Amino acid sequence: MNILVLPGDDIGPEITAAALAVLQRIDSIYGLGLKLETRDVGMPSYRRTGTTLPDSIVDEARAADAVVLGPCGMTEYPAREKGGVNVPGTIRKQLDLYANIRPARSRHGIPNALPRLDCLIVRENTEGFYSDRNMFLGSGEFMPTEDVALSVRKITAHASRRIAQVAFDYAMRRRKHVTAVGKRHVLQLSDGIFITQATAVAKAFADVSWREMDIDAMAADLYTRPERHDVILITNMFGDVLSNLAVAMSGSLGLAAALNAGERHAVANAGHGSAPDIAGKDIANPSGLILSTAMLLDWLGNRHARTELTQAGRAIEAAVDAVLGNAAQRTADLGGKCGTRAFGAAVVAQLDKSAQRLAQPA
Ligand code: NAD
Repeated sequence: MNILVLPGDDIGPEITAAALAVLQRIDSIYGLGLKLETRDVGMPSYRRTGTTLPDSIVDEARAADAVVLGPCGMTEYPAREKGGVNVPGTIRKQLDLYANIRPARSRHGIPNALPRLDCLIVRENTEGFYSDRNMFLGSGEFMPTEDVALSVRKITAHASRRIAQVAFDYAMRRRKHVTAVGKRHVLQLSDGIFITQATAVAKAFADVSWREMDIDAMAADLYTRPERHDVILITNMFGDVLSNLAVAMSGSLGLAAALNAGERHAVANAGHGSAPDIAGKDIANPSGLILSTAMLLDWLGNRHARTELTQAGRAIEAAVDAVLGNAAQRTADLGGKCGTRAFGAAVVAQLDKSAQRLAQPA
């Protein structure tokens, strides 16, 4: 299994180092045969090559079985024509990673976590309001005159149908409920397509119940009645906003795990950004990226029908939960004093402990 590792910018290298330590240990415990290759992207790449994302890296990402991508500090990049390429956005587009899967789950004892929250946001990842990638050619944002700016939101039946399929598939592995989110009475045509496709896909899943909700009602309902929501099927921009809200309600943006997946490729890329305000201080929470790699192993396990990969993903998730359960092992965003490196080491130690327990005769 070839895994390409791209640490990114700011806190990216710090949290990627912690996630790599966890991946290496789970590889040796479960004998997964992972081959991990690390390459620069973002500003380290720009300083060396004049671009934040050389074409060769996109080729390597395409050739790999999967990718681990640290967050990238795009707001600091030079203009596109001067080499500042949006790394995650371009990789998503080039590898057709049309599903962005973002869980948000409250864990016992985590400060500020909303109880009863356990949802999985399935966000369409290729179109919607993302002007830098929703057009075949050119940008979805333009200025017809100097004082008028227009942004085009693209919704297609094809993309809506395939993301609905992913949402209902995940629901079958969870509590078998989907909430499909839009704002159909305002965006009648575009969200009309989105919900029509969800309705069509739902017909093949008799065991999954579902409802439609407007995004504004949804934001409030997720806070007041989180237990009503299992899988949340949502368009690109609404999904970006709602998933950050949901994960913050689970305790911290630092817990934001996320997988970007298509038919043949998947990239673990945490749901938060590159946090330049805390970069280089060994205080970032690496949980989001570590949990993203657990999702990646689960995806690889399903794709290649290799149960040990799925089990390895579950073991990482259980180890992170166990470490987070101890207040002394939490990072600053969760009210603790544990550093990034020490948190990664604690997850590795927890994996060792669980492996020893499993190896002991009953
Ligand atoms: P951000 O998510 O980086 O930070 C928001 C707040 O959350 C900050 O206070 C930050 O310190 C905190 N935070 C984020 N991750 C954390 C972690 N792991 N542990 C502890 N605290 C954490 O959002 P932003 O400040 O709006 O964006 C910063 C940069 O990230 C921008 O350049 C943006 O373009 C980029 N970005 C990248 C991605 C990606 O690579 N997928 C996604 C979103 C934003």
